[in-house]
Amino acid sequence: MKEFCTAKEAKQWLKSYQKKKPKIGFVPTMGALHVGHLRLISQSKAENDITVCSVFVNPIQFNNPDDLTKYPRNLSLDARLLRNNGCDMLFCPSVEEMYPNGKHENIELEFGLLDKVMEGKFRPGHFKGVLIVVKKLFDIIRPDNAYFGKKDYQQLMVIKHMKESLGLPVNIIACETVREDDGLAMSSRNLRLTIGERQVARRIFEVLCKVREKGTKTPVWELREWAIKKIQEDSRFRVEYFEIADRETLMPVESWGHRNQVVALTAVFLGDVRLIDNVELFS
Ligand code: AMP
Repeated sequence: MKEFCTAKEAKQWLKSYQKKKPKIGFVPTMGALHVGHLRLISQSKAENDITVCSVFVNPIQFNNPDDLTKYPRNLSLDARLLRNNGCDMLFCPSVEEMYPNGKHENIELEFGLLDKVMEGKFRPGHFKGVLIVVKKLFDIIRPDNAYFGKKDYQQLMVIKHMKESLGLPVNIIACETVREDDGLAMSSRNLRLTIGERQVARRIFEVLCKVREKGTKTPVWELREWAIKKIQEDSRFRVEYFEIADRETLMPVESWGHRNQVVALTAVFLGDVRLIDNVELFS
């Protein structure tokens, strides 16, 4: 596996393959890799000639400086995992390489409510930072296919919207959420849970599954309130939001008129660790 820290080297290496016109698959990450990330890598390997993974903890998508400082980092372990899983290139730029002198391009697009609700509301500036980095990484790697997890459902929709609006020549491929045996969605942030918190963290997915099960038998508002109460029955949990929303626009729904096209999404603090998860309903 090749490892490059500068865009110039990465582009040069990719250019050396240009004549063969390889299909390039790309998996952007912030590192601290787990099986969820590696599933994206194997899907990319199965569908492309070259698989590139980036590891870059993107400072401009963190609205909370403490979250940025505490974000787990382990580049040498990440590189080993990627090598063992057949990744062809690791791109791991520095902040200065991505944003020389702190400067970056701005992306001004109209998203309607898509980037303003839920994560957009509680993490101001988050999606702006995500779009800037993803666009910049696409410009460097020029992938045919880029792989994103449904675990970050709203991010996936925002990136799909950017692709459409800017006419980017890349397929955005959505990958199912990979879970621990007890149902907890795999996340780099899980490493920050205490042993006690980790033992109870399954509650989030359990409640999401119950919501899926209860479905249209209960009015939407009642189901939301029930879910929030159920999660918070254990006082270590604090729900930031719990919404049932249209799968494409992420507009929260108030009734079951949409019944085939909704997703339940939540962000929950467990201790001081913020976890997000979602399940598609009625699929
Ligand atoms: P991150 O490193 O958290 O920015 O994630 C990089 C990519 O991996 C994003 O597209 C995530 O949605 C995806 N991802 C993270 N966790 C999971 C998971 N448990 N299952 C599937 N995809 C995931």
